[in-house]
Formats: sequence, structure tokens, C-alpha cells
Amino acid sequence: MVSRVIPVDPFDLVVFGGTGDLARRKILPGLYRRFLAGQIPEGSRIIGAARTEMGEAEFRGHVGRAITEFVASAKRSDDTLRGFLGIVGYAAVDARGDDGWSELAALMRRDVVQAFYFSVAPSLFGGIAERLHRFAIATPASRIVVEKPFGRDLATARALNATLAAHFDESQIYRIDHYLGKETVQNLMAVRFANILFEPLWNARHVDHVQITVAETVGVGGRAAYYARAGAMRDMVQNHLMQLLCLIAMEAPYRFEPDAVRDEKLKVIRALQPVSPDDIVRGQYRGQAKKRGGAGNSFVEDVGDPASRTESYVALKVEIANWRWKGTPFYLRTGKRLRGRESEIAIVFKEVPHSIFEDEEDWRENVLSIRLQPNEGMTLSVMIKEPGPGGMRLTEVPLDMSFAEALGEEGTDIPDAYERLIMDVIRGNQTLFMRGDEVEAAWAWTDPITADWDRRDDRPRPYDSGSSGPEDALMLLHRDGRRWREIHE
Ligand code: NAP
Repeated sequence: MVSRVIPVDPFDLVVFGGTGDLARRKILPGLYRRFLAGQIPEGSRIIGAARTEMGEAEFRGHVGRAITEFVASAKRSDDTLRGFLGIVGYAAVDARGDDGWSELAALMRRDVVQAFYFSVAPSLFGGIAERLHRFAIATPASRIVVEKPFGRDLATARALNATLAAHFDESQIYRIDHYLGKETVQNLMAVRFANILFEPLWNARHVDHVQITVAETVGVGGRAAYYARAGAMRDMVQNHLMQLLCLIAMEAPYRFEPDAVRDEKLKVIRALQPVSPDDIVRGQYRGQAKKRGGAGNSFVEDVGDPASRTESYVALKVEIANWRWKGTPFYLRTGKRLRGRESEIAIVFKEVPHSIFEDEEDWRENVLSIRLQPNEGMTLSVMIKEPGPGGMRLTEVPLDMSFAEALGEEGTDIPDAYERLIMDVIRGNQTLFMRGDEVEAAWAWTDPITADWDRRDDRPRPYDSGSSGPEDALMLLHRDGRRWREIHE
């Protein structure tokens, strides 16, 4: 299969926070990989921007080191790296002052696509947006890309939306959720809406329940200060898990175009029922991983606050009140320091209405498993007859589609979510970006949950590092006669 690289127009991309961690690990290496793939046309430029005073050569050195560190050596060559660094520039600007902005204005061209990536703290968004206009840098066609966290509740998200809206039209704003850039997540839409097979079954009559798991093995790491205030609900559920839930639950948009898709996702968020405290389990990891060869700190040690009541794990049962899903619970869970790094959506179908086989013990329900990581792909488990002369015994086998295997060489080279999303920005395609009203609706749903924890001063349940989460989270499904899918080590 020949890889299709869809060309984009020449562009000027300014990365505010170009010297920061996200730029170093994701944005710059991603752009390099697109350059290698031949997708960055001649005449394009990437301009890093941050307060640190440095020349172009010094910034190019920084970018070169980031690429050496984060792009597999098999994918690098001196020639392409030189070519890539040739399109990289730098401007020293301060988002809180006027220094450097005239110089940045002088660098920008008006006859190419202009995009500004705000890879900085959200408190700087307003200052940057305002100066992009005051210094006549942005045009009505410019695009801005903003990173999570997009607020910490409805009020702060509204304020952030208003700050951006004061300077940019909604059609210019790209709120990034990198989960939406993952190949499998987009495939979810292709599988649902380009095949006739699934739609008749995709409802409460045939789906028993849905599980969405995003399990991490890492702790809070270098993000302790941010995470201590955020917790799993704000950091993961309000955005990533909610977006996955929307893509599973939404109706078919009338066309695959940005507002049609986002309208359908918004309807799902608005149909989410309030969650009762009995349907949520919060957890916090204890420091017992040393024995297993891992880092041994507990959550409270990691965030440096023995009294912290922030959750590093959350599991909840979510109900969608609409015709398609009434009666089918969606169980969501995410956590840090769990036994495996695994992201999966599992659609668990109902049992057959009547079994004609005696061998019911071995019977399992059909499950469509959509893996985001590791090994992106989908598996549909089906029951077949066990081979051999042993009579009509049943066994479960997977119909497995690993994208890497199914797509051959191309599949091993699935673009990183950031690469794909940045190219969508240059193309002007907002389909995979969150609209302001979606973000606000998601906060409107999570706010009562987090406010209730604050009101009750709720204490998260401890769980061992390297485990599958708190015991109580198991009960969330057990009491409904169901069980979580295994998190693999
Ligand atoms: P970071 O490593 O702290 O980098 C911050 C960047 O902002 C640096 O380049 C810094 O450079 C620049 N900066 C700080 N103050 C500035 C000012 N007044 N004017 C201009 N530039 C300024 O942060 P990060 O981890 O890259 O995160 C950037 C954004 O992405 C944040 O909103 C974060 O929440 C979000 N995010 C990050 C990750 C991640 O994995 N890192 C994941 C998801 C979302 P100077 O000090 O030279 O100015």
C-alpha cells in the first residue's frame, strides 16, 4: 500500500513555548517527521518563540537535540535534519510585555498560511492573543492552537473562551485534544460510519455496556504542581475520556465535516446524566512499587502534600439519556501507577437471546475491543466451535486487526497524533478539535461531581502502585453483575 501524503500549502508556524517540554517532546519531532514524509512544502517556516534570548543558530541546536532524542534513529538522516533546521527560526518575545513583538511581526509573511501554537501556560493565552493583534501580526485567516488544560471548571473555561473570542473567531481556534488525533480514534468513526455491519447493533438493545480504560504506569512525574490541583477527573475524564465516549455514542453526522461532527458530540455531552456519588470511585496511589522495581513514592509524596485529597484514579458509571443508549451504562476509568499502560474501549454486547448449545460455561459475550495503545487496532471476539472431534464445544477466538499488521509497512509508520493534528491546522480542518461549547458542556457535567467532593472533603481510596486500582472500583461493576476487563502488565 502506497502511503498517501496529502500536501498542504506553505505556512509560517509560530510555536510559543518553543523551548518548552511539549515542543521538545512532541511538536518539533512531529514536524520533523512530517518534513521527512514530504508533507511540509518548500517555503514553509517554523518559528520558535519564548522569553529566553537566543539566536537562530542556538535554537536550531535545541531543535536538533530534541529530534535526536525523540525521533527513532532509523528515521533520521543528516541531510533531512539539515534541511529541516533550515526552515527553523526563533523570536524572543515576552507574553507579558511588549519586548520582541515588533521583530516577530517583521518576520511574518502575509501570503502564506499563518498558525500560532500556544504551547504555554493558559494564563499567557490572553497576553499573546492581544499582542498578536496589537502588533498587527495575526490576520483574519490566522489560526491559533491551544493546549489543555482548557480551564479547571466551567467558569474558568468560559473566561478562557471569552479571552480568545475577544481576538479570534471560533473558526480560527483549534483546541487540541491529542486523543482525537490517534489513528484508532479516527478509525472508530470509519468503522461505525463506513460499514453497515455495526450500526444495527450499536444501541442499548444489543450493547450490554461499554468500558473505556486509560491506564498509565507513570506517576505524576514532572507535572506534580499542576496535577495536585487537577486530579484524574479534570486531567483525563473531562477531556480525553469524554471525547472517546462521544465518538462511540454519537449519531452519524450528516457529513464528515467539522461542525456536523462537533454538533453530534455536543448532543451526547448534553445527554449525560448527573452521576451519583455511589457511581464514582476515586483513588490515590500508595508507594509500594519499589518491590516491583518501580519508583516507590506515594502520590502524596510525589505532590509534596501529605494532606492532598486529589485523586490519581477515578472510575465512574455514566448514563446517557437518549433513545439509543438509555439502559446501557458506560464505565470509565483512568489512573496513574497502574499495573499496565493500556488504553482501550470495549463494546460488550449482550448475550444471545437463547442458547442452543449445552456448553454454556465456556460461553462469552462478543466484545469489540478498540485499542489505542499499545498496538493500535481492533479485535472482535467471536464464539466458534472448538476444533477437533470433541463434540460441539465452544471457544472464543479474536477476529484481530492490528493496524500495523493489516497495513504492512505503512501501518508501522502511523503518524503521531500531534503530527496529524498540526497538519490539520495548516489545512484549516477543525473536525478533530474541540469547539468552545463542547468544552463548556463537558465542564458543566463534571463541575457538580468535583464540587461535591470539595463540599464533602472526600478522601480518595488508597490503592497499591502497580495494581488495577482501588478495590471499590471492582465493586462498581460487580454489583451490576459485570467485571472490568483485565489491565495487562
Ligand atoms: P514548559 O516546559 O514549562 O514550557 C513553557 C514554555 O513557555 C517555555 O518555552 C517558556 O520559555 C515559555 N514561556 C514561559 N513564560 C513565558 C512568557 N512570559 N512569554 C513567552 N514565553 C513564555 O511547559 P510545557 O510542558 O511545554 O507545556 C506547555 C503547555 O502545554 C501548557 O499549557 C501545558 O499545560 C500544556 N501541555 C503540556 C503537556 C506536556 O506533556 N508537557 C501535555 C499536555 C498539555 P521561556 O522560559 O524561555 O520563556
